[in-house]
Amino acid sequence: MSRFWSALTHELEPYVPGEQPRIEGLIKLNTNESPYGPSPKVAEAIVAEAGEALRLYPDPQASALRQALGAYHGVTADQVFVGNGSDEVLAHAFAGLLKHDAPLLFPDVTYSFYPVWARLFDVAFETVALDAAMRVRLADYRRPAGAIILANPNAPTGVALSRAEIASLLADHPDIPVVIDEAYVDFGGESAIPLVADHPNLLVVRTMSKSRGLAGLRVGYAIGSEDLVEGLTRVKDSFNSYPLGRPAQAGAIASVADEAHFQEARLAVIAARKTMSEGLEGLGFEVLPSAANFVFARHPARAGADLAAALRERAILVRRFGAPRIADWLRITVGTPAQVGRLLAALAEILG
Ligand code: PMP
Repeated sequence: MSRFWSALTHELEPYVPGEQPRIEGLIKLNTNESPYGPSPKVAEAIVAEAGEALRLYPDPQASALRQALGAYHGVTADQVFVGNGSDEVLAHAFAGLLKHDAPLLFPDVTYSFYPVWARLFDVAFETVALDAAMRVRLADYRRPAGAIILANPNAPTGVALSRAEIASLLADHPDIPVVIDEAYVDFGGESAIPLVADHPNLLVVRTMSKSRGLAGLRVGYAIGSEDLVEGLTRVKDSFNSYPLGRPAQAGAIASVADEAHFQEARLAVIAARKTMSEGLEGLGFEVLPSAANFVFARHPARAGADLAAALRERAILVRRFGAPRIADWLRITVGTPAQVGRLLAALAEILG
């Protein structure tokens, strides 16, 4: 508390990211990072930008990166917006697209940054409860709304809606902005990007932090109509002209160019997720069907907090959330096969 803070600052309840501790031999399954590094070509591209070139400001429009992403996804560069992590892209969407008289709708259990941005930008919102199976029920969104944002696959549940379901959501809501946050889609979800062509109100948000192993580089992007991208660009250019430095732009371009590395890493995660989900079920956990690089699980006999603490004593970090509905659930990032093995062995020991 400070007398120098504005009234808004006094009222903020900031998002708390998963911890990044330095513990010897830690198995870090708490922030959905990739267990595999980025393409080695990324480091080469970054090093090439890290000398004399740093004297000059980067391209404020990140034109080459937007061109590369547009070509990759089959849209024009003018349909691509890039930002400093998808968190920044989402923040600009809250400020520039999602604030209307009627409330923004999102699930009661979803990315916990959404209500934080809503409060920061004074966006009226209502949460819509997931059903008993922790699924988004689209019928519940048929109500007055100024905009809708869904993470798909949802976080922290990992449960995905099909593209056909997103299409039906769009058919229900042709006249309001709909943002689909596809941070985890590369691990088995169906992207809504093909729907952008017919839906000028659809913005699909992506990140390079998870499937491309680049959480440390901070590159996210969005794909949508030129109209939505122009709106985001107006917000960006009223906030920070250069959200991506030269190394980030060059590294991201190199990542997009290495399709083989991308496929290999994401398929390895999908395979290890199966082992992990089946292993957890074998230990008596209830495990939601995950299309992401994490699983959401709870044990009928043990409190989530106790399990998380017992894992931590064994240098295994998982994520738990305080919200009452999900307090007993653990969100566990899919690691390497060796890490998954260590996790399952530790849980077997903890559960006796
Ligand atoms: N969306 C969702 C659903 C997430 O879980 C995350 C990661 N915390 C993000 C967006 C943001 O990722 P980044 O800023 O690293 O792109």
